[in-house]
Amino acid sequence: MTSTTAAPASTAAWPWPPLLRASIGWHVAAVAAGVLVPGAAPWAIGAIVLNHVLITAAGLTPRSSLLGANITRLPAASAARGEVAITIDDGPDPVVTPQVLELLDRLDVRATFFCIAEKVRDQPALALDIVARGHSIQNHTAHHRHDFSLRGARALAKEIQLAQDLIEQVTGQRPSCFRAPAGLRNPFLAPVLHRLQLSLVSWTRRGFDTREGDAATVAARLGRDLAAGDILLLHDGNAARTAAGQPVLLEVLPPLVARLRAAGLRPVTLPEALNPSDLPTVHEH
Ligand SMILES: [Zn+2]
Repeated sequence: MTSTTAAPASTAAWPWPPLLRASIGWHVAAVAAGVLVPGAAPWAIGAIVLNHVLITAAGLTPRSSLLGANITRLPAASAARGEVAITIDDGPDPVVTPQVLELLDRLDVRATFFCIAEKVRDQPALALDIVARGHSIQNHTAHHRHDFSLRGARALAKEIQLAQDLIEQVTGQRPSCFRAPAGLRNPFLAPVLHRLQLSLVSWTRRGFDTREGDAATVAARLGRDLAAGDILLLHDGNAARTAAGQPVLLEVLPPLVARLRAAGLRPVTLPEALNPSDLPTVHEH
C-alpha cells in the first residue's frame, strides 16, 4: 500500500516519524540520567550531541524518509503502468526553458517543472506556456535560498506558502508537490508540508547537471538501472553548459527519452502519476 497517491488532509495530526519520536525519548532519558546519575552528565551530553548529528545527517540526505514522508519513486500503481517522471528544476529560465519546451514537444514528452516561484512571477508568459503545453508546475520554494534547511518552522511556512500563492496567481493551478532546494531539509519541514497539503517529492536519480557539462556523463547517471517508477532530476535553471555552450539537458533529453521508450517506459507528469483520478486538473475554491 502506498500513501503517496493523495495529499494528506491538513486537519489530521501530523504523523511523527519514528526518528523524531525516538529523539524526544532519547533527550528525556539523557537529561534524567545526567541529572540523577553521578558522573553521567558528560555521557548524557554526548548522547544528545549524537542524536543531533543523526537528525542533521538525515536532513542532508535528500532521499531519506527519516524526517517524514518523502517520495523517491512513483507509487506501485504508476510503476505498473510503466510510468517514469522527468522533473526539471530551478526555472523558468527565459533563455533555456523555451528551448526545453520546444524539445519536449518534439519528443512528445510531458514533464514536471519544480519552479522557483519568484521566477514564475517574473516570467508569467513562460510559466503559462509550460502549463499550456501539458506540463506540470510544482513548488520549489519562492526564492530557492541556500540556507533554506537552516530556517525555523515559521520561515519555512512563509517561503513555501508564498510560492504556492505566486504559482497559483500566475497559472491558476495550486501545486500539490514540493521539493526542497538541493533536497536539504530539517525536522520543521514535514509538519509545514503536511499543513499546506504538499507531498515532498525527491528523486530516484539525478545527473548533477548544474555542475556536470558532459551530456554523456549526465545521461549515464540518470539512465543507470532505469526502471518503471523512476523519478529523474534535471535542471533548466542553473543548467551547466556543454563544451558547445548548450544547456546540458538539451543534449541529455533526446537520448534519455529514446532509452525510456526502448525500455517500454512512458514519461508522465507527477500529478498524472500520483493522482491519476484528479486529472484533468481543475482548480476549485
Ligand atoms: Zn533547486
